[in-house]
Amino acid sequence: MKEAPADNIFGKILRRELPSWEIHSDELSYAFLDIFPQSEGHTLVIPRSYSENILECSTEELAACMATVRRLMPAVRRAMGAGGITVLTNTGIEAGQSVPYLHFHIIPRHGSDKVSLYTPGAMLQEEDARRIQQAIRAELH
Ligand code: 5GP
Repeated sequence: MKEAPADNIFGKILRRELPSWEIHSDELSYAFLDIFPQSEGHTLVIPRSYSENILECSTEELAACMATVRRLMPAVRRAMGAGGITVLTNTGIEAGQSVPYLHFHIIPRHGSDKVSLYTPGAMLQEEDARRIQQAIRAELH
């Protein structure tokens, strides 16, 4: 298990130095309510082994974390009477990551909610799409 830096908020929550509203706990992951929920039931899932973000996380650790996300999703949805769920992880400050500890948001969604992660840009044009697609594929191994 990798330890989070001493001053990391989610590390403190894991060590119970800070309180949290626990939703789920097991050997590899921990889930708790987001303190500033985007919607009622907004839950965060973190691996017990520290990674700053998804890119730093091993496939095995990620799989364990995602198993918890998958397990919690229907429960959160049913409990909140939500039609849908948004699962996301912000990677890097530029993407809006404010806590440098890998976490997955589980956000219950209702048709009428005001959850908004970004303002949509201009519609993707075919020529740009093709170029971008090729550039990304070229980076895949
Ligand atoms: P990010 O912006 O990094 O993707 O998400 C961080 C999330 O952590 C935010 O939704 C924020 O509300 C939540 N958060 C920040 N500090 C705390 C805290 O001390 N306790 C809990 N439960 N959530 C927190």
